[in-house]
Amino acid sequence: MNNVSILLVMLMLPVFSCTGVKNQLPARVVADLDLGESREITLSNGEKVKLALLDIMEVRDSLRNAIREVHVQVSIDGEVYTLGSGNYNLPVEAGNIQLDCPVVKSYLSNSTGDHWGLIHDARFRLWPAGSSWMEPGTFAYPLKQQWFAGMSQSGNEPTYVDWGENLDNNKIYYHAGHDFGGAEGMDEILSATDGLVISALAETLEGYEDLPGDIRPDVIWILTGQGWYIRYSHLDSVDPSVKPGSRVTMGQRLGVLGKQGYSGGWAHLHFEIKNRETASGKWGTEDAYAYLWEAYMNQYKPKVVAVARPHHLAWTGQQVLLDGSKSKSQGSVIKRYEWIFTDGSVAEGPVQKRSYTRPGEYSEILKVTDSEGHIAYDFAVVQVYDRNPLHHAIPVMQPAFHPTLDIGPGDPVTFLVRTFNTDTGNEVWDFGDGSPTVPVKSASPDKQNYTGGKFAETVHIYAEPGIYIVRVERADENGYRAVAHLHVTVTAR
Ligand SMILES: [Zn+2]
Repeated sequence: MNNVSILLVMLMLPVFSCTGVKNQLPARVVADLDLGESREITLSNGEKVKLALLDIMEVRDSLRNAIREVHVQVSIDGEVYTLGSGNYNLPVEAGNIQLDCPVVKSYLSNSTGDHWGLIHDARFRLWPAGSSWMEPGTFAYPLKQQWFAGMSQSGNEPTYVDWGENLDNNKIYYHAGHDFGGAEGMDEILSATDGLVISALAETLEGYEDLPGDIRPDVIWILTGQGWYIRYSHLDSVDPSVKPGSRVTMGQRLGVLGKQGYSGGWAHLHFEIKNRETASGKWGTEDAYAYLWEAYMNQYKPKVVAVARPHHLAWTGQQVLLDGSKSKSQGSVIKRYEWIFTDGSVAEGPVQKRSYTRPGEYSEILKVTDSEGHIAYDFAVVQVYDRNPLHHAIPVMQPAFHPTLDIGPGDPVTFLVRTFNTDTGNEVWDFGDGSPTVPVKSASPDKQNYTGGKFAETVHIYAEPGIYIVRVERADENGYRAVAHLHVTVTAR
């Protein structure tokens, strides 16, 4: 073998860094731009594109002045496009590329912190046309759970679970990373990637003490082949094999979902990717929603996915715009959007305007049907507060169920619920199959010890295959209700 051949073989072999993690180049490139700026950007495949940032439009609420929606206008090689930022927006195809805009600088105006390491007006990620968003075969869905099985808080969504959005606090925690609500002590957490464990069980591998966040018993940090740090937080238990210095493989079980650490009392997985691929060189959160979406679609292949998120916040009497247009059919088109509102009324069309006369937590049902007849559901959470008299507490509810996948007729399904802000009454489950309602009572979480206390549990068995819309509700001492929904798919065996 001559020297050139040896060099070629070396180039073809996977490269392992000193950490033992296979090096990997991201499929996307990042560009942080200022308003009015235009720049030539080289994509991961070597092609070049001219990107200009033309405009940024933001929508804020009138309760907390939090950013609820952002649209940016860009030009790509002279063609103008408008796209949504963060908040469950996926990358869009534009000309010869795909791009998204994970964050804009306006978020820093009232954010609790700079999660993004952002020093310019907007951040973009660019992929070649037709490229997958993550390198194929390198990223898996990080838990064994149905898509949108519970509540979620995605990139830059103002946090709203637990005691609800805090109207007395004008600093907003725009969520960094993606939260998956789930069943405490039941839902399994899996490694999204191959990697090296750099922190687990409150211990950290020597040389990695600069990791960008907490070192806690409930937190695992994994270093990936791209040199990215992935954080898994609030675990109920961590598997003994997961310790600093150990290697994990994609899909390997890391532990079980919980509400430990700074969870606010919500049983969920906080999943966050951090890297320094920012113009500032500071640690920034790499928005994970697109990667999670792609991994789930590849692994589970749902025909159609309904998206009614993010949640909404409104005063009584104020108009809310419910938007189901982020729903997608894989390989077909969505031909019908139906809404079934908490008060029993119905409407058709992707976007609906609603207002509410009573404070409370509402859950509006979105049903989408594609042109091949496939159906999917999602729910829009709406938290409504009274301005006159100013009433800052509404009941807020966290429902979950387990298992969420591969449920057959006759299988026991555990339903869990916890309600915040009230000691009055109890939760009432309606399992959506005509069976009698079932009351349970969760203890109101203690703000000083929110990791303590249990969700109220009940087991239900479905006799027949079908998609069931489960409803659970509880009223507080003012008669204000929290209503939540889950969708359970029972498949014939
Ligand atoms: Zn979180």
